[in-house]
Amino acid sequence: MIHFLVLSSGSCGNSYAFYDGRDTIVIDQGLTYTGFSKRLLLHEIPLESVRAIFLTHLHPDHSKGVGATARKLGIPVYLSNVSMHASHEVIKKIRISDESLHPFAHGEEMSVGAFSIMAMRTYHDCPGSSFYVIRNGGKKIFLMTDTGQIPFDAHDGAEGADVIFLESNYDRKMLEGGPYPKKLQARICGGYGHLSNDEAAFFLKQHAKLRSQVYLIHLSDNNNTPSLVKETVSDTLRSGIFVTICQRGESYEGFIDE
Ligand SMILES: [Zn+2]
Ligand SMILES: [Zn+2]
Repeated sequence: MIHFLVLSSGSCGNSYAFYDGRDTIVIDQGLTYTGFSKRLLLHEIPLESVRAIFLTHLHPDHSKGVGATARKLGIPVYLSNVSMHASHEVIKKIRISDESLHPFAHGEEMSVGAFSIMAMRTYHDCPGSSFYVIRNGGKKIFLMTDTGQIPFDAHDGAEGADVIFLESNYDRKMLEGGPYPKKLQARICGGYGHLSNDEAAFFLKQHAKLRSQVYLIHLSDNNNTPSLVKETVSDTLRSGIFVTICQRGESYEGFIDE
C-alpha cells in the first residue's frame, strides 16, 4: 500500500509525500521545515522514513524549505542537471549543499527503496523544470505542475496511472477579467507559464482511467476558485474517476491499495 499526502499546494507552498510503509519520497518542499514535519506527523508518516526530495523546479513555492529539510534529515535533493547548471545562485540562496545535491538527466531512471522515479521536462519560466512518473509495486503515479503546455512525454507518463496530480492553475475568463497587469496575464497563460482549468480537464479526459484518483493542484488564489475547477472537470470527465480539488494551503491524504 502507498500512503500519499498533498502536504500543501498553491503559491503558499507545494509539497507531496509518498510512503510505502518503509520509505518516503518527497516531491518539492515549499513549506517551512516545521510546517512540513508537523503535517507529515499529523498523517502518521514517520520523519525518519523520508529518504529523498525530488524537485520539479526552483521557484520558491516549491523549494523554500528544501535546504533546511535536507540538512535536518540528512537526505539528498534530486534536481535536473539543467536546473543545477542554470541556477547556482538560487541553490546557494536556499542553502542546498553540494554534497546533498544529486543532478539527474530527464528520462533517467532513479530508485529509492522500492520506488522507481523518472523525471521529464515541463515548459515553465524556470530552466530545467520537470514532471514526475513514480512507480512502486506495479502502481503508477503521475505528478505534473507549473507548465505552460502539455509536454509530449506527459501523454505516456499519465497513461494508466493510478493517481494523477495535475496543475489546474487558472480560469481563463477570470484571469482575463482579473486584476493582474496584461504582462503578468500573458506570462501565466503563455507557453512557459501555468495550465488552465480547461487544459487540465482536457488532459484528464484523455488519460484518467476508470477508478483512478485525480488531485487538482496549484490553484491560483486570484484567478481561480475550487467551484470553477469543479464545473470544468464535471463538464468534461466521465463518472468513475475520483477527483479531489486541492484548496490552497490545505493537506489531503490518500492511499493506493495493493
Ligand atoms: Zn513555478
Ligand atoms: Zn508554483
